Amino acid sequence: MRVKCLREKEAEIEKATRRHAELEARAAQIETEARAWQMRAAAREVEATSLQAQLQQAVVIAHGGGIITTAEPQSGSVDGVDEAEDAESAYVDPDRYEIIEPRCRICRRRSATVLALPCRHLVLCKECDGSVRICPLCLSTKNSGVEVFYS
Ligand SMILES: [Zn+2]
Ligand SMILES: [Zn+2]
Repeated sequence: MRVKCLREKEAEIEKATRRHAELEARAAQIETEARAWQMRAAAREVEATSLQAQLQQAVVIAHGGGIITTAEPQSGSVDGVDEAEDAESAYVDPDRYEIIEPRCRICRRRSATVLALPCRHLVLCKECDGSVRICPLCLSTKNSGVEVFYS
């Protein structure tokens, strides 16, 4: 009985130690697995940040491209549709009037020497003054025109 009992106990101890070792091994395995996961997660983080950077770059490129592609047809259509108005708006700058001799807004050939009244826009030549009743610049009614002499 005693021997058997002892053997049983030995066997039990052996089992226990084996189980303990097993558990330890499993714990170690879990730990290494956890570490591996951590490393994988870190690697993924790096990957994610690099991906994010790439994405950002792509977005920037796409955005820049978008600006170019959207700006091109826009300016093209503006140029195409309102070319005359666009050219006119270049002459609106009042400072230019004093430096560059303004051209008639109607014929665009002769110098603008007639001041439209009451808006006082210097936009007409003497010839066109008689045929225009609206200021071509501000489109307000022109009551009369006054010829201006440059010094
Ligand atoms: Zn004219
Ligand atoms: Zn005007």
